[in-house]
Amino acid sequence: MFEYGKKRIKYSVTENGCFEHNYIVSSYKQVIFNKKLVYLHRLVFIMEKNKGVDIPSNIVIRHTCDNPKCINPEHLISGTQDDNIQDAVKKGRMRRGNLTDNDIKIIRLSFELGIKKQAELAEEYRLTRAYVNRIINFKLYKNVY
Ligand SMILES: [Zn+2]
Repeated sequence: MFEYGKKRIKYSVTENGCFEHNYIVSSYKQVIFNKKLVYLHRLVFIMEKNKGVDIPSNIVIRHTCDNPKCINPEHLISGTQDDNIQDAVKKGRMRRGNLTDNDIKIIRLSFELGIKKQAELAEEYRLTRAYVNRIINFKLYKNVY
């Protein structure tokens, strides 16, 4: 268990040594840190690997184990958004309808990093705003990360 102030983060250890958080709602659990909404694995990385010092928003925290529920600090590395996209390309995501898995990943990242607003993404990808919202909130393409 990790404990940050009043925040207690429980997890179970898998065979691969992943620390899977116990939140059910979404693989990418979000929490408040520094008055911002951040991913839980990002918070753990900041606290365990960066002495609690916030990291710039253009730096993304990635899983070396490819397990989005994992919060084992040893399975987390920092990289740029480009690394993350490269990674997705390398893993050869499949095409679904007009959106590739890579598109979905870019949509989420662009929004998370504050590069683009939902309305801009909707226009760019010719989607409704509601659809973009569902992608961002993992209501759609839950298995893409
Ligand atoms: Zn892991």
